[in-house]
Amino acid sequence: MLRDAFLTLSQSKTLARFMTSSRLPWYAARRFVAAQAIDEALAVVSDLNRAGMRATLDHLGENVATEAEAAQARAAYLEALDRIHATGVHSGISLKLTALGMDVSTAVATDNLRRVVAHAGRFDPPIFVRVDMESSDYTARTLDVFAAVRAEHRNVGIVVQSYLYRTGDDVERLIAQGAGVRLCKGAYREPASVAYPDKRDVDAAYLRLAGRLLGPEARAAGVYPAIATHDTAMIDWVKAHVAAHGVPRDAFEFQMLFGVRRDLQAALVAEGYRMRVYVPYGLQWYPYFMRRLAERPENVAFVLRNVLHELRRGGR
Ligand SMILES: Cc1cc2nc3c(=O)[nH]c(=O)nc-3n(C[C@H](O)[C@H](O)[C@H](O)COP(=O)(O)OP(=O)(O)OC[C@H]3O[C@@H](n4cnc5c(N)ncnc54)[C@H](O)[C@@H]3O)c2cc1C
Repeated sequence: MLRDAFLTLSQSKTLARFMTSSRLPWYAARRFVAAQAIDEALAVVSDLNRAGMRATLDHLGENVATEAEAAQARAAYLEALDRIHATGVHSGISLKLTALGMDVSTAVATDNLRRVVAHAGRFDPPIFVRVDMESSDYTARTLDVFAAVRAEHRNVGIVVQSYLYRTGDDVERLIAQGAGVRLCKGAYREPASVAYPDKRDVDAAYLRLAGRLLGPEARAAGVYPAIATHDTAMIDWVKAHVAAHGVPRDAFEFQMLFGVRRDLQAALVAEGYRMRVYVPYGLQWYPYFMRRLAERPENVAFVLRNVLHELRRGGR
């Protein structure tokens, strides 16, 4: 119920405008959003690197309606890539095709992605670009755009969501391509016609897909899986699976979101696993923030405590 309410609110443009133009909501959002400006975001990445973690920087924004806005998003990513290179931090980038103009046309999004990936590929070593997966309206087109750009560049990967029925087939195709795949459960509101309504089925699918992505066939094809979850049941299963099948620690990585289960992030690093943290930054933080609240309504209490704390400090 609450999940649905937050996901509905996440699509409200009016609330987005109100929230991102006032100061107080930002105090709440920054529990999950690393920064508003690239410099601060890079400082966060630097701290993560010092703690033994890699990062992927996400310049927040999605569902832009014009080619000009898509070009702005592209420019923000090109700047992020230059800054990653200049500062020498260990980070890739994550982006959404609707930020690069997918709602304008698939051709605009493809062209923008191609330019970002080509720019990232010119550095030595190349910087990795991850294409996030959005709602099921975009799944097929996102996979098509990804395939087109990956046919030309190797420094690009994709995300799949275990809640979608179709993902088993998508994963087989991605394994055949040897693509870099991030596996997550899925963060959007989807109808039962396309996604498992029951969390137990989503979790069971997650383990099945993780097993395929970590399997010998995928490894032989060059697949480097990213296990993106904060769910200890999923993580423990993966740990047991890789130990039982002799999968080396550098053949995959765990990924988590900035501000979520920092204890677990540090524990996995201490145990010798690769960990990458998704670091979102920018002014368009509203829908991302609402999806984080939807995942765990207890977070509302967390963020309210943050706001009260800031109010007591006089909003400094
Ligand atoms: C690196 C990364 C990238 C992602 N990229 C995408 C993407 O491209 N497309 C997409 O649809 N989704 C993406 N997601 C989100 C993902 O689909 C899930 O919505 C999210 O990770 C929550 O699911 P979970 O696997 O952590 O398990 P859940 O079963 O939702 O949660 C398990 C436990 O994790 C903790 N937890 C989970 N979420 C939160 C939270 N917000 N705050 C505090 N604790 C929490 C709680 O302890 C909870 O009990 C990404 C997630 C990660 C970690």
